[in-house]
Amino acid sequence: MFDDTIEKLKKEGLYRALASRMPGNGPEIVIDGKTYLSFSSNDYLGLSRHPRLIEAGQDALKQYGAGSGASRLLSGSFLPHLTFENEISKFKNTESALLFGSGYLANLALLSALPKEGDLVLADRLNHASLMDGCRLSRATFKLFRHRDIDHLRYLLDKKSKNQKAWIISEGVFSMEGDLADLPELVSTARQFQSELIIDDAHGFGVLGKNGRGTFEHFNLERENRIEMGTLGKAAGLYGAFVAGSKSLIDYLINRAKPFIYTTSLPPAIPAMGIVALQLLSEGEALRSRLKKNQAIFYARLLKSGFSVTEGITPIIPILTGDNFKTMEFSKALFEEGLYIPAIRPPTVPGGKGRLRISLSAAHSEADIEICVKLLTKWGKHFGII
Ligand code: PMP
Repeated sequence: MFDDTIEKLKKEGLYRALASRMPGNGPEIVIDGKTYLSFSSNDYLGLSRHPRLIEAGQDALKQYGAGSGASRLLSGSFLPHLTFENEISKFKNTESALLFGSGYLANLALLSALPKEGDLVLADRLNHASLMDGCRLSRATFKLFRHRDIDHLRYLLDKKSKNQKAWIISEGVFSMEGDLADLPELVSTARQFQSELIIDDAHGFGVLGKNGRGTFEHFNLERENRIEMGTLGKAAGLYGAFVAGSKSLIDYLINRAKPFIYTTSLPPAIPAMGIVALQLLSEGEALRSRLKKNQAIFYARLLKSGFSVTEGITPIIPILTGDNFKTMEFSKALFEEGLYIPAIRPPTVPGGKGRLRISLSAAHSEADIEICVKLLTKWGKHFGII
């Protein structure tokens, strides 16, 4: 029963398997004893091994133990959970905030709890799988609008019945494209149609905006009333996620969101490290400018080598390869030369849109970038990408 599916995936170049990895120095990873230069981590600022985070985690592990022992509403709500929530709502300039086990759970929670039967949920076509699954869990009518296409979104909103409540769902920074939602237009469209806007800022949090507060800060829209989700597994270098918004939203989620209520809370060491991560992000202007500098160098080198990439302002750079097998072979050729950039294939991206997804980090040096572009150019020519 399972074997047929596995065989089919193999035939289509869509089979995936796990490998055991160890961290190396900085952006390096070690696989089967060999060191690779990695351009595949979402640890955009290189915080995951920051000594201050690790120390905070060790202290909390000693004080609170390894696990929380229960869900938040039973006995699993400890001081670090509450302190982190208070700190992240200050960081985000919202009334309140709530921790979740992961970004996946946070998105399932938001979308299963907020839209009601009869409502209309409109989601960007390239939204993350967790948002899509959340939309499917909700009992509302669910439709997709074309990627970043505000006219299409407005067309769908125009067609809704007069009293139907609509929810607009988008990522702030798109995880596989590296482009930004047109947040100013989304905000004004939501206001015009008296709809709610839910933004998943997993990849904007910590990276965008002068203070790393994310896509809303980048667009100077922080005063807008909003429902925002962010993960701790990317720029914050940790694990877990949060939703930031009004006090009544958070109260409602605590009482209604099943992926919050019926799950063991994060080990207290995670929010204890999260509190320190927020301090590091607040002080992180130098890291963000190093990341920006890396992006500028990377784009300049790629364009010079003949890659047709659109210069963006995020550390996510997709190199479109199309065919699944070609994507895998490209990634494998780089791997054999010591460069780790995994192949991204459907269903993570739409059919025919296979790609290498490069993610840059402040931990990359100019020499790392030089090596990466040199090998991308060599193998890009070989595979007819440039
Ligand atoms: N949203 C987006 C846009 C993501 O990229 C991810 C992680 N890939 C998630 C949500 C899920 O977050 P987590 O890894 O914390 O479950």
